[in-house]
Amino acid sequence: MSDVKSTNITWHEGDLPRDERFKALNCTGATLWFTGLSASGKSTIASALEQVLVANGVNSYRLDGDNVRFGLNKNLGFSAEDRAENIRRIGEVAKLFADSGCVSLTSFISPYRGDRDQCRELHVEGKLPFIEIYVDTPLDVCESRDPKGLYKKARAGEIKGFTGIDDPYEEPTNPELVLKTADHSVDQCVQQCLELLASKGIVNVTANA
Ligand code: ADP
Repeated sequence: MSDVKSTNITWHEGDLPRDERFKALNCTGATLWFTGLSASGKSTIASALEQVLVANGVNSYRLDGDNVRFGLNKNLGFSAEDRAENIRRIGEVAKLFADSGCVSLTSFISPYRGDRDQCRELHVEGKLPFIEIYVDTPLDVCESRDPKGLYKKARAGEIKGFTGIDDPYEEPTNPELVLKTADHSVDQCVQQCLELLASKGIVNVTANA
């Protein structure tokens, strides 16, 4: 589905250089890519982080699993091919958001290393920061949380190809950050994200400002 069919197209650079945009916004656009099992805590942490960032005047926006499938990706299912296309489109959209000076937060299981690496590559090519955050929560903890009842359905055979049950999750080999939600609270995880953003020179924000 990602075959190149567009021809005779030329990138229009515009008159506003990226560094001028970022300087005016006091923020470097970036993508924070949260990955991990279902119920590991990706959406919860991304949402809490988004709140802190926006409260501090930073333009931040979440691209979240199901939400994107309501619109942009409504024509995609859960086959390996569709999952790959789902992630490819998210990667492209996140990159556009980052280019606009936004701190874009993506929360998708994104179980396959190759798909995530492709999104990283897109950002590297575009000279934009890509920060992979592995929400490392053991399967048994995720399963005991089961906020949407999905593990129960998967165990009952009502959902096929469920990541962690009968579909693999490939752990990141070199993520920028690992969050252990079984040991750290949501606030502590948000704090770790903020420290990383500051250390990378993306934006400097404190949680209680
Ligand atoms: P995902 O987006 O990874 O599928 P969710 O964020 O939707 O996961 O669900 C995670 C569940 O785990 C929520 O019900 C959340 O309240 C709970 N939870 C408990 N402790 C934590 C933590 N430290 N970080 C994130 N979520 C946590």
